[in-house]
Amino acid sequence: MNVDLHSHSIASDGLLTAAEVAARAHAGGVDVWALTDHDEVKALAGARVAAEALGMRFIDGVEISVTWRPEPAHKGTTIHMVGLRIDPANPVLLAGLQKIRTGRDTRAEAMARDLEIAGIPGALEGAKKFAINPELLSRTHFARFLVETGKARNTHQAFHHFLTEGKPGYVVHQWATLAEAVGWIQAAGGIPVVAHPGRYKLSAPQLAQFFDEFKALGGAAIEVMTGSHTTDQYNHFAEVARCYGFMASRGSDYHGPGESRVDPGQLPPLPADLTPVWHDW
Ligand code: AMP
Ligand code: MN
Ligand code: MN
Ligand code: MN
Repeated sequence: MNVDLHSHSIASDGLLTAAEVAARAHAGGVDVWALTDHDEVKALAGARVAAEALGMRFIDGVEISVTWRPEPAHKGTTIHMVGLRIDPANPVLLAGLQKIRTGRDTRAEAMARDLEIAGIPGALEGAKKFAINPELLSRTHFARFLVETGKARNTHQAFHHFLTEGKPGYVVHQWATLAEAVGWIQAAGGIPVVAHPGRYKLSAPQLAQFFDEFKALGGAAIEVMTGSHTTDQYNHFAEVARCYGFMASRGSDYHGPGESRVDPGQLPPLPADLTPVWHDW
């Protein structure tokens, strides 16, 4: 069975509509598909209709932005928490997502001010043109603006030169706490899954502490096969899943043609000895 449990539509920072992502997943041989837009669930109903029309099983998902250890001493690390099999109408989840979406506008204004100081005017308006969902202005939309205006060759370069920590357009931001994100997902009947654990700038002991905290909050699954991991990281996080007794997930993190390393359904399968997060669905 081909399971892909991480992807984005224009409701967040993807390039395609939910129906187009569904078609792409279907073309990639996906049997069970989840849409997991950042901090947003509004595309799920349409995604389900499109997926089921194509004969795929659809899983309601979301990817919540978290700031782990926001205290000044730790500076805060942005972590992404995928929630699977959530009830998209759950009021606790909806209120939480609404709260973190609201902060994006102030961050975007600060990013645009910083970019202007760095000699790049018009970034707020420029980024907004790419954000189809006005509540979800993302760094990705700034990256597309920087590419459009010739400031970067591609979105990856735009992140590298302008939008990551220490670069002129990077603004520190407080997202949800780890406990909030896990709690909202659980309140909505869903399963919290640590997204792409290999992507965080944490030392091995810090990452171990993060997994301990996640587990203490009731967390039981991590992404092992993701478009964000290298082959070495597939093996490493498979081992982490074994050590902690975590279930394992698989998801391309597809954002659209030309912006993702892996198309939906194209990752290698999970190692056979791991328990897939979908084992009892
Ligand atoms: P935001 O939630 O607005 O801070 O944007 C985060 C999104 O930016 C992620 O979900 C990725 O889609 C994208 N992103 C982050 N880092 C990079 C990178 N180095 N290259 C390309 N896209 C990135
Ligand atoms: Mn994204
Ligand atoms: Mn992510
Ligand atoms: Mn993602």
